[in-house]
Amino acid sequence: MAKNPARAARPKFDPRAYEAELIPLLREVAALFEPDAASLQQVLRKIPKDGRGFFSRSDLIAGFRHFQGSTDFGIDERELLQRLKRKPVRTQSGVTPVTVLTKPFPCPGQCIFCPSDVRMPKSYLRDEPGAQRATLNKFDPFLQVWNRLSAFYQLGHPVDKVELIVLGGTWSSYPEAYQRWFILRCFDALNEFSGTTSAGTGERRASMEAGMDFLDLDEGVEGSGASRSYNEVVKDHLKRGLQGSLLADVEDATWQKLEAAQEQNESSACRSVGLVLETRPDCVDESEVMRLRRMGATKVQLGIQTLSDEVLAKNKRGHDSEATRRAIGLLRRAGFKIHAHWMPNLFGASCEGDREDFRQLFAEAPYRPDELKIYPCSLIETSELMQVYEAGQWKPYGHEELVDLLVDCLAHTPEYCRLTRVVRDIPSTDIVDGNKVTNLREVVEAELKNRGQACRDIRSREIRGASFDVSTLERQALEFETEVSRESFLQMVTPDDQLVGFLRLCLPVAPSFIDELGQSALIREVHVYGVSAELGERDESKAQHLGVGQQLVEWAAQLATQAGYEEMAVISAIGTRGYYRKLGFKDGVLYQHRAL
Ligand code: SF4
Repeated sequence: MAKNPARAARPKFDPRAYEAELIPLLREVAALFEPDAASLQQVLRKIPKDGRGFFSRSDLIAGFRHFQGSTDFGIDERELLQRLKRKPVRTQSGVTPVTVLTKPFPCPGQCIFCPSDVRMPKSYLRDEPGAQRATLNKFDPFLQVWNRLSAFYQLGHPVDKVELIVLGGTWSSYPEAYQRWFILRCFDALNEFSGTTSAGTGERRASMEAGMDFLDLDEGVEGSGASRSYNEVVKDHLKRGLQGSLLADVEDATWQKLEAAQEQNESSACRSVGLVLETRPDCVDESEVMRLRRMGATKVQLGIQTLSDEVLAKNKRGHDSEATRRAIGLLRRAGFKIHAHWMPNLFGASCEGDREDFRQLFAEAPYRPDELKIYPCSLIETSELMQVYEAGQWKPYGHEELVDLLVDCLAHTPEYCRLTRVVRDIPSTDIVDGNKVTNLREVVEAELKNRGQACRDIRSREIRGASFDVSTLERQALEFETEVSRESFLQMVTPDDQLVGFLRLCLPVAPSFIDELGQSALIREVHVYGVSAELGERDESKAQHLGVGQQLVEWAAQLATQAGYEEMAVISAIGTRGYYRKLGFKDGVLYQHRAL
């Protein structure tokens, strides 16, 4: 097992030094009749920290955890957290997202719109929030996961169910040993983070020998006047960079070690209930699909950008729409959730062409992604697109044109798809030309409403933290064909049309290329909304414990049986294997199976 990097020297808040203030303050917080932000602020003002400042939420949580054994506050920790929670939306889908970035590495793509910051993995900019966290942690996967969990925990968010999202360049182009090590260290961090006591959950800092430092690279590449490419600079740096104990750790990260860490995670306090990896369509073949699954992935972010071969070629994308069609088919047939990235306004595109492209994405059987990020192309200085722009051959759509296009996209997104983004969160200082409106989604949604239309995607209908009466839930099934399957999107909705849970059932038309799956029906996703309840905790007001997931699985089993399937498999995440065992599934090698 790799050694953990050194512990931080950052001064840690010690509740004992503030006992005289914290105990009465916590009593007041516990006694608040209306625990809203204004009343909380009033209480914090009444009992200041060090005579002038405010105690932070994390101070209060640390104090509560320290003194609750000796002092009765009249509420439990969960109730305190509810009162202090600042950003409830983040975990309202029931799962806490932890995003980590891989180190900079050469990318097989030559895409002209892609930023080239050599301190970052290809396509990321160093002042994006996730990128800043990765830099501070020197791209060390253990530290990135640990410190993100620590931040969530200190703010009172649950960390028992975690979706790990690995971003950065093209995952499939990194050496397999690095991939294994990266995922192993993510699982090590989940397994080691206690998540239930204040002991040992503090932030850790990267030590000198941990991770990789790219900060001293300041070479401008790709954009106007640059002499070297991103790949050349990064390759050079990597030759010098990966040495000593880190190199040995990477080489030491065997499949057996990864599988052992995954097994340990099944009963860990912080479980991976989803693992997302990011790649390009032309990197997806049968063996890559198997490798992604072996890593524990359940969802793949796939940069498809456009279906127009002409626009793909003009942007030096390096693959055509046939590669996209094939990749989606393989991933779907292996049960993965497909999270596509689509880019309007590329070089050579037009508003009308983009409208048609978006229509095709859902109208044509080979595509139909489960989730979608819409990233309108923006001009970044370090991209090759700068030269095209300076030659007057490309310019971004005007604000109104773009809003008009996006309104149409939102209006035509089917119910089975989740629109996760409609604009990329790039700091406006990095954008030379293009959209700088950060709340573009709100602008587009308002315009959609003005026109008397509504978006029916998953995100617009999720129930989030609202309560509901389980006996009134209605079942709705949406069926559609793909090139490799008949898909059923099974939904449970409230009478006022809010989505409480859904299941994606894949009924394949031919045996899978993965022997283990054969001709089984396949559950690709089960998702139940509600504020994330801690594993093992039962609270009847929370959706996850009302058996909504189980009802969806039984419904899927019934449909698959009626359709003549004899077995049903599920692409379970490491941390949900126990749940599926309780529902009658037996462990296979990469999937779990239930006879019908
Ligand atoms: S494949 Fe992705 S990361 Fe690589 S150059 Fe193209 S857009 Fe950038």
